[in-house]
Amino acid sequence: MIRKLTTPDDGSNLRVSFEFFPPKTEAMATRLWETIQRLEPMAPSFVSVTYGAGGSTRERTHETVRRIVAETSLRPAAHLTCVGATREEVLAVADGYRQAGVTHIVALRGDPPAGMDAKYEPHPGGFRDSVDLIRGLRELGKSFEISVSCYPELHPESRGWDAEIAFLKAKQDAGADRAITQFFFEPDVYFNFLDRAREGGVTLPIVPGIMLQPNFSGMKRMAGMVQTSVPQWLERLYEGLEEDNETRDLVTATVAAELCHKLHERGVRDFHFYTLNRASLALSTCRLLGLKPQSAKAA
Ligand code: FAD
Repeated sequence: MIRKLTTPDDGSNLRVSFEFFPPKTEAMATRLWETIQRLEPMAPSFVSVTYGAGGSTRERTHETVRRIVAETSLRPAAHLTCVGATREEVLAVADGYRQAGVTHIVALRGDPPAGMDAKYEPHPGGFRDSVDLIRGLRELGKSFEISVSCYPELHPESRGWDAEIAFLKAKQDAGADRAITQFFFEPDVYFNFLDRAREGGVTLPIVPGIMLQPNFSGMKRMAGMVQTSVPQWLERLYEGLEEDNETRDLVTATVAAELCHKLHERGVRDFHFYTLNRASLALSTCRLLGLKPQSAKAA
């Protein structure tokens, strides 16, 4: 599938970032820490740590970003949602991040606490949505870098393309610095969205979010929930690989790298990887893109 392994040249004209989720157990923490240490030499622009539904990982997200600041050379971005907390509580979490040396926040509304099928109701006294949260963070005056989400195949709650793009523009006007997309599999999905966004006055960098899934059926379930289309050619690639983790991983890294190549050919330079806390898939994808560990660059 990779037609030109040498493209994009030596990887020096592209930048990557990695997303992690906070670990639930000691064993998961050990694995995440190994992953972070293995990925650090790829010199990502930043690494982000998610915030569990309903703020359920508040402490663990904080502890993870704090440790990244203290023990690595990486720049962490902490995700923050509006769910299940008052404005004051959310801003206190942001302030805690700042005090821990975290200067980048991924500002989100979050999913309804009752589940993704339920109607979203803001917490009484809470931020209404991500735009409201971005304004709140800007008013806090802590000079955060702020990233936000965007949805190239529309969010399940979308009111249509015009409203979707107008809402992304509202995030930009409120002070967002960058948008990171939901995962997708076809380059045209990204480029059609980019065209719509630019026509709608969105000038923010729109960084593609690339899924590095180790488990195809799990990913398919997730895709169904978030309205990401899964092309038939992708399904066919994974047929019969349910019990074959090794081959599945090779396919996943190849598919992800191929998508990045196609995006890169048309001018994309930044890639955000949903790592699911696994180093090997992220590392092999970076290798296929020509990226090498910093220490190996001079060689
Ligand atoms: P918003 O962008 O505020 O709104 C979601 C959608 O609702 C919009 O895209 C739009 O379609 C519609 N909408 C809402 N208000 C309006 C309006 N006024 N006008 C028009 N349309 C409107 N979830 C977590 O719980 N923790 C995380 O750490 C996390 N990280 C994520 C990171 C990325 C990059 C992405 C893409 C998603 C992440 N999510 C996370 C999932 C996210 O919380 C859900 O998708 C949630 O349902 C929406 O949050 P949001 O900030 O994207 O919402």
